[in-house]
Amino acid sequence: MVTTRSPEQGDFDSFFQLSAIVTRQHARATAIFHSPHTARFWSPMSSPVHFFDADEVEQLRRRARLDPQVIRQLRNDLLKKFRPTDECLTGLPADEDLSVHSLKLYRQLNSQTDGATKLLFRNADQLLLESVILRIATGRTTLCVSSQVGCAAACDFCATGKMGIARNLTAAEILDQVLQAGQLLATESRRLNNIVFMGMGEPFHNTVALYEAVQQLTDPRLFDRSGGNILVSTVGLPDEMVRFARAFPNVNLALSLHSADQKKRESIIPLARTYPLKSLHNAVRQVQQISGRELMIEYLMLQDINDSVADAERLLDWLTDLSVHVNLIPYNAVEESPHLQATGRPQIEAFARVLRDAGRKTTIRYSLGSDIEAACGQLVRMENRQQAIDSHRASGS
Ligand code: SF4
Repeated sequence: MVTTRSPEQGDFDSFFQLSAIVTRQHARATAIFHSPHTARFWSPMSSPVHFFDADEVEQLRRRARLDPQVIRQLRNDLLKKFRPTDECLTGLPADEDLSVHSLKLYRQLNSQTDGATKLLFRNADQLLLESVILRIATGRTTLCVSSQVGCAAACDFCATGKMGIARNLTAAEILDQVLQAGQLLATESRRLNNIVFMGMGEPFHNTVALYEAVQQLTDPRLFDRSGGNILVSTVGLPDEMVRFARAFPNVNLALSLHSADQKKRESIIPLARTYPLKSLHNAVRQVQQISGRELMIEYLMLQDINDSVADAERLLDWLTDLSVHVNLIPYNAVEESPHLQATGRPQIEAFARVLRDAGRKTTIRYSLGSDIEAACGQLVRMENRQQAIDSHRASGS
């Protein structure tokens, strides 16, 4: 998904105004994960307690005979205030290993042209994944998180979709993206305002970790985030959309529609063959009945594929009786899909005009971070390619 923002917004202002294991280890420490924010140590001989596992943390607390307030304070400092990890761990006994981070910050790229920062993380399996921080002029910030390494949905326009799927992220790996981004922003005296699941992966292909992550994000004892400041974006799994709305009615949903023509949609989104437009329409209506919230419809503008006035009119028909906000997304070219081109700005404006004239709330998102390959998956693909070249050279072949 692209990390972008829009100049004008409705209910989704907050999202689109733009768009280590750390172990407290006092003996035999082997440094493996390091980031600028915290020292990260891990001993392969020890079995650390995982910070995002409530049962393990409770066992540690009992074993160490800690007052519950010590753990409460630790969670408040890390998850609500985003204080530096090492500072927060000083209240724990020296012989306890508490593993806070499951990701290592591998690279950080700051845009020279706008307020975007791409964070490239490596997990314990040495897989790379991306998160993007968007800072807007008003001071608000949005974090775009990944839910998978790669993606099986294989959308034709998406760099992540070209990778295939490596594996689902764990809830701890999703939450650590939030924690480390929050810590980075705290060093700038900024708050993290919004969290969007628009990074690598289809969130509804990883529902166990998604539900756990959203539960912890909204838990007042943990991250204490408002559901209204979280958005989950899907390419369209109808039953999962409805199930999620029932579980988290206060969390926003976005549907990447990209075409209201079944054949055209199938040509760019393979999953559309399994989930036809009619079933998506029913799902959006049900989600609205359950949550009472307006959905975001995302529409990627692809030249001569889905960007004509006739396409806009087809979209209007499909939107009948739905309460949504349409977000038109300029396309960032993907090298592996040279047949897809971006629609020009005048054509996007004309498309938007058709929707607005019909009374549809419509915004045009504009990209941030184009100089840091901020579109989903681009940087990981570039990095993987470079590493393959480097290892090829190193092997002398
Ligand atoms: S579902 Fe999202 S991440 Fe997956 S291939 Fe499609 S656009 Fe890319």
